[in-house]
Amino acid sequence: MTYETQPKASHYVNGAYLEDKKGEVIKVIYPATGEVIAKVHAATPPVIDAALEAATKAQKVWAAMTGRERGRILTDAARLMRERNRELSELETYDTGKPLQETLVADATSGADALEYFGGIAGSLTGEHIQLGEDWVYTIREPLGVCVGIGAWNYPTQIACWKSAPALACGNAMVFKPSETTPLCALKVAEMLTEAGAPPGLFNVLQGMGEVGSRLVTDPRVAKVSLTGSVPTGRKVYAAAAVEMKHVTMELGGKSPLIVFDDADLDNAVSGAINGNFYSSGQVCSNGTRVFVQRGIKGAFLARLAERLKDAVIGDPMDEATNFGPMVSARQMEIVEGYIEKGVAEGARLVAGGKRLDRDGFFLAPTVFADVKDEMTIAREEIFGPVMAVLDFKNEAEVITRANDTAFGLSAGVFTRDISRAHRVIGQLKAGSCFINSYNDAPVEAPFGGVKASGVGRENSKAAIEHYSQLKSVYVRMGDVEAAF
Ligand code: NAD
Repeated sequence: MTYETQPKASHYVNGAYLEDKKGEVIKVIYPATGEVIAKVHAATPPVIDAALEAATKAQKVWAAMTGRERGRILTDAARLMRERNRELSELETYDTGKPLQETLVADATSGADALEYFGGIAGSLTGEHIQLGEDWVYTIREPLGVCVGIGAWNYPTQIACWKSAPALACGNAMVFKPSETTPLCALKVAEMLTEAGAPPGLFNVLQGMGEVGSRLVTDPRVAKVSLTGSVPTGRKVYAAAAVEMKHVTMELGGKSPLIVFDDADLDNAVSGAINGNFYSSGQVCSNGTRVFVQRGIKGAFLARLAERLKDAVIGDPMDEATNFGPMVSARQMEIVEGYIEKGVAEGARLVAGGKRLDRDGFFLAPTVFADVKDEMTIAREEIFGPVMAVLDFKNEAEVITRANDTAFGLSAGVFTRDISRAHRVIGQLKAGSCFINSYNDAPVEAPFGGVKASGVGRENSKAAIEHYSQLKSVYVRMGDVEAAF
């Protein structure tokens, strides 16, 4: 390997790299080969303390600047990120195994979009004036303080930026803990923010497992926690944050429905199902993994899907022709294999894939089950891998009820040419991020997040501002104060 994947040090604290070899070793494994490409150490309590102290100090300096000054630094960081897109995308591919064809357009670019968008609105974040006769109220939009971001492993650059960009725009500082599976990319985000002029300590990166996350969540210096992860972790983190009434954003898992009516444009519907199940080898929280296909086109849908699967180019993720890469880790691959076995055992019909590929790395073929029933495990639990479950349905009312029969509520999609039906159905689906004749678009301008067990709060868009600021309300009396005595 010619590319230098080993970072200068494990952590980024107070504007510089920081090492502490006393922390447990975390091996970074390249998913396409299984090779160890870097080693970092988990943060020890003194390192965690240093990061929180640095963030506390930096936040005061940062909040005293104008929004426009803060915004300029964020947009400068976005520019650096775009200039370095190729090297950042290569690092993202080493960290996650996702094909370079994807990372070149979906990771640092998406991170830069967030920094640019929130940098752009930082100067226009205001409170309001409320006239009450001759008296009046004004509100001040204040930052929360030090925010903690905790990431999953599927989009390490994007998650670091989706959390830090709105947090910093509002005048907060951040301590970010990437997933222990993908520790490398967030360090680059920290480097670029420093280079763009962020004060030391504004954005810190600490490595570690759940234990480091847990210490951060419970530290009294922390005002807010934003987690991207699974529902079980979300429950723990939300409960821990509640003890001191901390603000939270929870971006958790899903088992989202993608509904294809028989009047849909077949090719577009198949494209939507491919995007919503096989992009990033299916390791996307909002994936439409329950594909409900109306009976009239079930055969045609499965036939077209089978043809399109022949175009999957599976192989070296660094080859830009590859459009389907490995799973992130051996463990994740084993979890997904377990679900495939359950699918077969519970009577679903395996129509594509279902097997590991005979090569190094953690490659699992794109897998499709047909004739899936609502009660089967593969239709109920989040698999987080390249496994599509195709279920059939008769009519609109039935599919809405079945689509909503889940504890999750992250996303939902509908393919139909009937515009009234499209809006009527989407209106009744219990999900936060929805799509009509498309699937999995996530522009920074649109709110992103789930309902029910899939989460609390929204990332991206103006909505994120509400989750990284609070309002102080000030009543101003212009006349005398009346009192009872
Ligand atoms: P995970 O829940 O295992 O871990 C997420 C993060 O939480 C990791 O950094 C982990 O170290 C940390 N963590 C674990 N226990 C903790 C604790 N007790 N306190 C504090 N932090 C703790 O999730 P994962 O396997 O890394 O990621 C996959 C999951 O993430 C899937 O369920 C997926 O749907 C979800 N996800 C959601 C979104 C979204 O935006 N909704 C995006 C990507 C992934």
